[in-house]
Amino acid sequence: MTALINTKFEASIQQMQQSVTFPSGTVKYLFQSSFEKFLQTCDKQHTVLITNEHIAKLYPRLFKEYKTIVIPPVESSKDVLTVETLAKELLQIEATKKTIIIGIGGGVVTDITGFLGSVYMRGVSFGFVPTTLLGMVDAAIGGKNGVNIGMNKNILGTISQPRFILFDTRFLHTLPDDEWSNGFAEIIKYACIFDADMYAELSRNTISYYKKKDDKALIKLIERCVEWKNKTVLEDEKENGIRKLLNFGHTAAHAIENLYELPHGKAVGIGMVIACMISEKLTGLDKTIAENLKNLLSQYHLPVSFKIDAAKAMQLLRMDKKRIDDSIEYILLERVGKAVVKPLPFDVIENALSQYESDNRTW
Ligand code: ADP
Ligand code: ZN
Repeated sequence: MTALINTKFEASIQQMQQSVTFPSGTVKYLFQSSFEKFLQTCDKQHTVLITNEHIAKLYPRLFKEYKTIVIPPVESSKDVLTVETLAKELLQIEATKKTIIIGIGGGVVTDITGFLGSVYMRGVSFGFVPTTLLGMVDAAIGGKNGVNIGMNKNILGTISQPRFILFDTRFLHTLPDDEWSNGFAEIIKYACIFDADMYAELSRNTISYYKKKDDKALIKLIERCVEWKNKTVLEDEKENGIRKLLNFGHTAAHAIENLYELPHGKAVGIGMVIACMISEKLTGLDKTIAENLKNLLSQYHLPVSFKIDAAKAMQLLRMDKKRIDDSIEYILLERVGKAVVKPLPFDVIENALSQYESDNRTW
């Protein structure tokens, strides 16, 4: 563990009530907390903040007194060139092994911060302050820090845990509606694979219910998703078994988001319905579930119809990391709250992709 000289900061993260110890490190969690207050415990000389242009503009006060590196607010920032640029900036501001790097932003910012933090001088302490719902329930959790090479997502990466993750839901007040929906796609994913009660809760509510500023429901929901992700990662940090279930909806989604530049959450929504359609055939999933899921997705403003060029999508899927010969390990549902991994032949997947759009499915 990197030596930290910042005792005030250390004391402050020691006070975080919840912590989880993974093989690659212990993470402290601070739910419902003020980042502004937390920042006051970080000494200016040994703290570097990384954020993106949107957040820097929306919250200028936070960054006034600290060394801050700002990256463009686009997925293309998540690449090796940005890592090199950031490392050069760290050298220029004389960041040492005692520096704490804090990433404040969505998945792009926290991924790049985690990657940089785990390789700069062979590793320095880093922490995350996710500012998107998707970041809070998924991207910032689990210790995977990846960067892309072109269309190949997260092809270079590390498994290395942040020292802390701070959840300040005030950031969500400025989050665009579309980004709320993207976050809910991942929340619905946890419900489908692990948690039928959460699925029922989501079915009863809407985005505006969770958006209510003084409502505790959102933070509860976030904590529950973090718990599910941590439980899964704890059992399987290197993704040999149960962690694969988190890929529910993601195999098709990765192909669709690359082909059509669809936002991740929207593509995951479509991918989950496709996985349900396949499940009806292969795991005996109740035939009402795919339709029910579509209703839930539209309740959270996620698309439920999209024309997919199945042949093109298959070209991409053939390059999927989960390919084994002529099949792909696919995550299917047995019922809401219970997912399984099954190898699927390419033709079964292609069939489902081409059938997706029509509501009068013959499945
Ligand atoms: P994720 O991977 O978590 O979805 P990204 O890093 O791709 O997140 O961010 C999605 C978009 O939302 C980016 O344009 C980012 O600048 C913007 N964004 C992130 N957090 C906020 C926020 N709290 N308020 C407004 N915009 C935000
Ligand atoms: Zn995802």
